[in-house]
Amino acid sequence: MFYIGCHLSSSNGYLAMGQTAESIGANTFQFFTRNPRGGKAKDIDPADAKAYNEFAQERNFGKILAHAPYTLNPCSADPKIRDFANMVFVDDLQRLEYTPGAMYNFHPGSHVGQGVEVGIDLISQQLNAVLRPEQSTIVLLETMAGKGSEVGGKFEELREIIDRVDLDDKMGVCMDTCHVNDAGYDVVNDLDAVLTKFDNIVGLDRLKAIHINDSMNPLGAHKDRHEKIGDGHIGKEAFERIINHPALRDLPFYLETPNELDGYAYEIALLKSLRK
Ligand code: FE
Ligand code: FE
Ligand code: ZN
Repeated sequence: MFYIGCHLSSSNGYLAMGQTAESIGANTFQFFTRNPRGGKAKDIDPADAKAYNEFAQERNFGKILAHAPYTLNPCSADPKIRDFANMVFVDDLQRLEYTPGAMYNFHPGSHVGQGVEVGIDLISQQLNAVLRPEQSTIVLLETMAGKGSEVGGKFEELREIIDRVDLDDKMGVCMDTCHVNDAGYDVVNDLDAVLTKFDNIVGLDRLKAIHINDSMNPLGAHKDRHEKIGDGHIGKEAFERIINHPALRDLPFYLETPNELDGYAYEIALLKSLRK
């Protein structure tokens, strides 16, 4: 099964997202749990969540991916910002139990000059404080472009975080194709080598989702500017290899390209046409 979707607005609830996804040829989607630059989340409507769960089951939808707000930084030097991250994690993980089996993706964080080791330590402490054995949600570390003081631009850093998490069966990784390109992993010319490296360092069994984005910038640029599929430095041929690769093809793919719904519909149709 080819699970393909895109980032959708959550303002009208889960069922509306499911219906929008279906209308553009998607069978999964990603959404922000709250304003990406803000704090307070809208209350979950349990009836809406239930209606979505039934809708998704009837249509064989893939797992949905919740994205944490960008303001969540578990490795900030400011204890108030770390407390905010803790509050968001706990609240989001509770809310996600209304849609059991969802995944929760977050940017590991920015160490803001404290150094990557301190960052990794603070991130894993946060995860140990919020993960619960009974939660059904798998929490994903996103591979980052390595801009500024971002943690997670190297596979080794993701491995180190997971190694320090007690409930590591709740942990996985979401690979963002734009970010790994910008971080210096050559998914265009040497996808096999990148995946072998990922397997050796993190383990392919940890890879749970793909953010499928082209990049405005060349390999190793450490920038993080997403481009439409085929219009950037990754290119259509590389995406054809990515979505068909035996190690990736059964994972859910989520577009985060600069598009409105009609653009997403076009890219979903394009990727389906490239699927073997
Ligand atoms: Fe992200
Ligand atoms: Fe992403
Ligand atoms: Zn990005």
